[in-house]
Amino acid sequence: MKIPKCRDISILISRQHETPLTPGESLWLRFHLLICEGCRNFQNNVRVMRSAFKRYLDQGKDH
Ligand SMILES: [Zn+2]
Repeated sequence: MKIPKCRDISILISRQHETPLTPGESLWLRFHLLICEGCRNFQNNVRVMRSAFKRYLDQGKDH
Protein backbone atom coordinates (compact mmCIF):
# COMPACT_ATOMS: atom_id res chain seq x y z
CA MET A 1 0.00 0.00 0.00
CA LYS A 2 1.32 3.44 -0.84
CA ILE A 3 1.95 5.92 1.95
CA PRO A 4 -0.96 8.35 2.21
CA LYS A 5 -0.22 12.04 1.85
CA CYS A 6 -1.64 14.85 3.98
CA ARG A 7 -4.37 15.28 1.38
CA ASP A 8 -5.45 11.66 1.80
CA ILE A 9 -5.29 11.94 5.57
CA SER A 10 -7.43 15.08 5.62
CA ILE A 11 -10.05 13.19 3.59
CA LEU A 12 -9.98 10.36 6.14
CA ILE A 13 -10.31 12.87 9.00
CA SER A 14 -13.37 14.46 7.42
CA ARG A 15 -14.88 11.13 6.44
CA GLN A 16 -14.42 9.18 9.68
CA HIS A 17 -17.47 10.82 11.27
CA GLU A 18 -19.75 9.68 8.44
CA THR A 19 -18.17 6.37 7.47
CA PRO A 20 -16.17 4.21 9.89
CA LEU A 21 -12.61 3.77 8.69
CA THR A 22 -11.22 0.36 7.84
CA PRO A 23 -8.62 -0.97 10.31
CA GLY A 24 -5.90 -0.14 7.77
CA GLU A 25 -7.14 3.41 7.29
CA SER A 26 -7.40 4.16 11.01
CA LEU A 27 -3.88 2.78 11.48
CA TRP A 28 -2.53 5.12 8.79
CA LEU A 29 -4.49 8.00 10.28
CA ARG A 30 -3.12 7.43 13.80
CA PHE A 31 0.41 6.96 12.53
CA HIS A 32 0.25 10.06 10.37
CA LEU A 33 -1.13 12.20 13.19
CA LEU A 34 1.86 11.17 15.31
CA ILE A 35 4.33 12.54 12.80
CA CYS A 36 2.43 15.39 11.16
CA GLU A 37 1.54 18.51 13.10
CA GLY A 38 -0.39 20.02 10.21
CA CYS A 39 -2.89 17.16 10.15
CA ARG A 40 -3.18 17.20 13.94
CA ASN A 41 -4.20 20.86 13.69
CA PHE A 42 -6.62 20.02 10.90
CA GLN A 43 -8.22 17.30 13.02
CA ASN A 44 -8.61 19.73 15.92
CA ASN A 45 -10.24 22.27 13.61
CA VAL A 46 -12.68 19.67 12.31
CA ARG A 47 -13.52 18.64 15.86
CA VAL A 48 -14.15 22.23 16.97
CA MET A 49 -16.22 23.01 13.88
CA ARG A 50 -18.31 19.87 14.31
CA SER A 51 -19.09 20.56 17.96
CA ALA A 52 -19.96 24.18 17.15
CA PHE A 53 -22.26 22.99 14.38
CA LYS A 54 -23.86 20.43 16.69
CA ARG A 55 -24.46 23.11 19.33
CA TYR A 56 -26.08 25.23 16.64
CA LEU A 57 -28.39 22.36 15.67
CA ASP A 58 -29.23 21.61 19.31
CA GLN A 59 -30.20 25.26 19.87
CA GLY A 60 -32.52 25.03 16.90
CA LYS A 61 -34.46 22.23 18.60
CA ASP A 62 -35.48 24.48 21.49
CA HIS A 63 -37.59 26.74 19.31
ZN1 LIG B 1 -0.18 15.43 7.34
